[in-house]
Amino acid sequence: MSTTIEVEDMITVGTLADKLSLPVTQIITVLMKNGVLATVNEKIDFDTAQIITGELGLEDIELVRKEAEAEVPVRQKLVSTDPNAEPRPPVVAVMGHVDHGKTSLLDAIRGANVVKGEAGGITQHISAYKIMHPVENGQKRGITFLDTPGHEAFAALREHGAMLTDLVIIVIAADDGIKPQTLEAIRFARKAGVKMLVAITKIDKPDGDQNRIKQQLSEAELMPEEWGGDTVIVGVSAKTGDGIKELLDMVLLIADVEELKAVFKAPATGLIIESHMETGRGAVAEALVEQGTLKAGDFVVAGGTYAKVRNLESTTGEVLKEATPSTPVVITGFKTLPEFGDEFQVVGSEKEARQAAAGEGNLRKSGAGTLEMSSNELIRLINRSNKLQELNIIVKADVQGSLTSVIDSLKTLDNEEVAVRVVGSGVGAITENDMHMAHTSKAIIYGFHVALPASVKQIASRDKVSVRMYKVIYELIDDVKAELTSLLAPEVVETPLGRLVVKGIFKTTKTEVICGGEVTKGKLTAPALARVMRDKEELAEVEVTMLKRGPVEAKEVQEGEMCGMTFVSKARVDVQEGDHIEFFTRELKTRSL
Ligand code: GDP
Repeated sequence: MSTTIEVEDMITVGTLADKLSLPVTQIITVLMKNGVLATVNEKIDFDTAQIITGELGLEDIELVRKEAEAEVPVRQKLVSTDPNAEPRPPVVAVMGHVDHGKTSLLDAIRGANVVKGEAGGITQHISAYKIMHPVENGQKRGITFLDTPGHEAFAALREHGAMLTDLVIIVIAADDGIKPQTLEAIRFARKAGVKMLVAITKIDKPDGDQNRIKQQLSEAELMPEEWGGDTVIVGVSAKTGDGIKELLDMVLLIADVEELKAVFKAPATGLIIESHMETGRGAVAEALVEQGTLKAGDFVVAGGTYAKVRNLESTTGEVLKEATPSTPVVITGFKTLPEFGDEFQVVGSEKEARQAAAGEGNLRKSGAGTLEMSSNELIRLINRSNKLQELNIIVKADVQGSLTSVIDSLKTLDNEEVAVRVVGSGVGAITENDMHMAHTSKAIIYGFHVALPASVKQIASRDKVSVRMYKVIYELIDDVKAELTSLLAPEVVETPLGRLVVKGIFKTTKTEVICGGEVTKGKLTAPALARVMRDKEELAEVEVTMLKRGPVEAKEVQEGEMCGMTFVSKARVDVQEGDHIEFFTRELKTRSL
C-alpha cells in the first residue's frame, strides 16, 4: 500500500527530506545528478520533488500537490501614481528551460555574441542592458533586459530577477516544448504578479511543433490569444533574426497597457543587480535606476557602503550624462562591494553618504541578515565543537551572485564532525593577499570563473598554497566534499573472536604474561588484541603474540579446547585464575560523507 504525502507547490529541499524521512544530502545528491544544484533552503517545485522521489525508487510513496498559496515576495511594482510620473521603459527578464535559447535570444537582441564564453553553456551572472527599439516616425523607445541566470543553482537570483521585472518572456524551444523549469518560471511569474509573454524559440529548426506547445501552454493555463485566451505568443529565431522585431513590438505594447511610470525629476533610487572587483577600478557595481535620475557627481549609498559617481557608464560601456528610470548603469568608486539586491539611494553630500553607510554597516555587523538559529541547532553546534574538524577555504568568484551560491552550497556539506570554514571570500581575481591569508590559515583557495595572475601563481608554488580553479559549480563542490571526506576520522570496527577463562599462570614479567586456560566462547587466533577482564572490569588491553596447544604453536584454538597463550602489555598485568581474556580484532575503515 502506498503512503500519500502532501507537498506544497514549492517546497524547500530540507522540508522535502523531512517529509520523506531521508537525509537532506541524499536529496541534494539526486538533484546534483540531474544538474540541479540546490542548498537545503532552496525551493524546488512539485514536479521536481516528484522526479526525485521517482529516482530514489520510493515507489510506495505518492506525492500529492497541496494547493497552498506559497509566498512569493512581490516587490512593490514600479507603477507610480505620483502626478509628476512619466512613462518609463519596461524591465524585461527572459526565463525558461536551460538550452531553450535564452542567451541566444538576448544576444540576438543586443547584437553581441556572448554564448561562446560560457562554461557548460550556463549563464552564471546577472546583469542588464538597455536597447533602443525603433518604432514609428523614426522614434526609438527603450527596453531594459535583465540577463538572469539560467541554472537552477541560481534560483535565488532568479527570484530577485522576477521582482525587478515588469514583464517576463518565457522562452520555449520549438523542438523541445514545455519542461519543468519552464513550468517553474511560469508559476513564479504568475505568483509575483508579473505579466508574461511567450517566445517560441528556434523556429528555424525543421522539427519544431508550435501547435503542440500551444496545447501545452493552454494546459498550463496560458491560453494562446489565437485560441481565445490572452497569452501573447511570438515565434522567434535567434539564428535568422525572424520574429525578434515582432517580439520587441509586443513587449512595448504590453508595457503601454501596463502604464509603467516613474518620477524622473528626483534623486535616484534603485537596486544593485551585480557587483565585482576589477583591477584598476576597484569595487564595481551594476545598478538599475528605478526612480529619479542618477547623475555624474552624485553620492550613492548602497547597503553598508557608498560611492561618489565619477563617471556614469551604461552596462555596455557608453558614457552617460545621466540615467533615468529603468536604466541599468555601472557605478565605480564604492569603498567596499555592495551586495546583490541592496537598494541604493542618492544623498546630498559625502558626509551624509558616509553616515548612512556606517549606520547600515553597523546594523549588518550587529546581526541583521545573519542566520537565525534554532536552539536545537545551537546545541548541536556546541556538542560538535569539541571534535569538529574544519576545512579552511578561501572562495573567489567572478560575481557576487555566484559567490553566494557557491558558499551556500558548501554549507550543506557540514556534518557533526567536519565542516567547511570559509576564512575568506571575495569577488575578483586571486590576489597576493589571498595567498597570504591561505598560507597563514592553511586554507585551500577555490577560484570560480576568476583569473590567477602568473605572479600570484608563483607565490602559490613557493608557499605551497593549493589553488583550485573551477568553471562548473558542482565540480567545485565535489572537490570540497572529497577534501572533507579525507578529514573524517576513520571508523573503528572491532570484531569479537572468542573468550578464554584463565586456569593457570606460568610466567609474569613487567610486559609479558604466559598463561593457559579453556576457550569458553568463539575461536581464538593469534596475533590478536585482547582485553583482560575480572568480573565486568577491564584490567588491561593487551596484544596476544602466540597461542599453543600443548607444546605446539597453534594458529587458532576452538571453543572447548585448552591452550596456552602469550601476551604483551605496556604495564604489568597481574592475571589471576578465573579472569577472562576476550580476543578481538580492530580495523580502521575510511568513511564517506
Ligand atoms: P540557454 O541555455 O537558454 O541560454 O540557451 P542558449 O542560448 O545557450 O542556446 C542553447 C543552444 O541552442 C545553443 O547551441 C544555440 O546555438 C541553440 N539555439 C539557440 N537559439 C537558436 C535558434 O533560434 N535557432 C537554432 N537553430 N538554434 C538555436
